[in-house]
Amino acid sequence: MTGYPQDHPLTTELETAVTAVREAGRLCRIVQAEIDPGALSKQDRSPVTVADFGSQALICRALRDVFPNDPIIGEEDADVLREPAQAVMMERVVEHVGNLRPGSDAAEICDWIDLGGAKEYSPRFWTLDPIDGTKGFLRGGQYAIALALVLDGQVAAAVLGCPNLGPTLDAERGEGSLFTALKGAGCWEMPLAGPGNPVPVKVSSQTDPSLIRFCESVEAAHSSHGDAARIADRLAIKARPARLDSQAKYAVVARGEAEAYLRLPRDRVYREKIWDHAAGLLVVTEAGGRVTDITGRDLDFSLGYKLEENRGVVATNTPVHDDVLETIRTLGIGEF
Ligand code: AMP
Ligand code: MG
Repeated sequence: MTGYPQDHPLTTELETAVTAVREAGRLCRIVQAEIDPGALSKQDRSPVTVADFGSQALICRALRDVFPNDPIIGEEDADVLREPAQAVMMERVVEHVGNLRPGSDAAEICDWIDLGGAKEYSPRFWTLDPIDGTKGFLRGGQYAIALALVLDGQVAAAVLGCPNLGPTLDAERGEGSLFTALKGAGCWEMPLAGPGNPVPVKVSSQTDPSLIRFCESVEAAHSSHGDAARIADRLAIKARPARLDSQAKYAVVARGEAEAYLRLPRDRVYREKIWDHAAGLLVVTEAGGRVTDITGRDLDFSLGYKLEENRGVVATNTPVHDDVLETIRTLGIGEF
């Protein structure tokens, strides 16, 4: 059982994406397990770099096999990896990808990574964040592998792998969860490693804004914690915010463990990247939630790799959405 309708026109796309994200998830878990906590203090970012490239290579290769003409707007390209100075890094990527795809060589792995090098909008494209939440990956926390299919500017299918997300947010780090969503058909959660029955996912039904819990980035540089605290104050929210890295925040809203995900701009110049939101948006909306920017506009995925016309993101269970937007407006948040 796959949990989504077998007669849906995007079944092949979703199944291909699920298989690809699961394979990338295996690579990421292996690389994360090898992180030496001692090396972290020396600011060694190489584990996340290995996993980033490896994840993108595996997913782009899998998509290319079934949909050779689909552009992929991914976060990485292989230019750096091809530099002679990166030979050691390249070897590590080859080793990890080779464990899952025996016989892969450096040149073809770089070519797979570069399949994700599209930047421009097209009527049908995939967008990929091979490791979303790199800081979470390095600190052993939450991170996500996010893949979405965008048709005519609308997210149509999404797969969000969360390798360190347990069955509940407070549970011990689990075996990981996988969220899938199809536009108009629903959202499901299943074990990342598979198999296991997909379970329909529903947002919280809370309507009283003072009783909500919100989640936000761990990184204050990515979303203003101060402005979020002002919103909480104004709405008389008592629950402490859940802070976690990556699009796992969208998953947490989708399955009702928080009613809102606030991403509040720190300045007027930053533009959100499509791969940081496409998969998460569909997971939340298909679970019954609502996603806009902080001004209430829909996220516009038709403008290339950035959400050029949006500022920040607000994702909620729906009933409290307007209260949150109204509070943002009243407090002048995001007006620089
Ligand atoms: P999170 O784990 O939710 O904090 O988000 C991680 C993502 O934040 C990364 O994938 C980056 O693309 C993105 N990011 C980097 N700089 C900023 C910024 N100044 N504001 C918002 N997001 C950012
Ligand atoms: Mg990201």
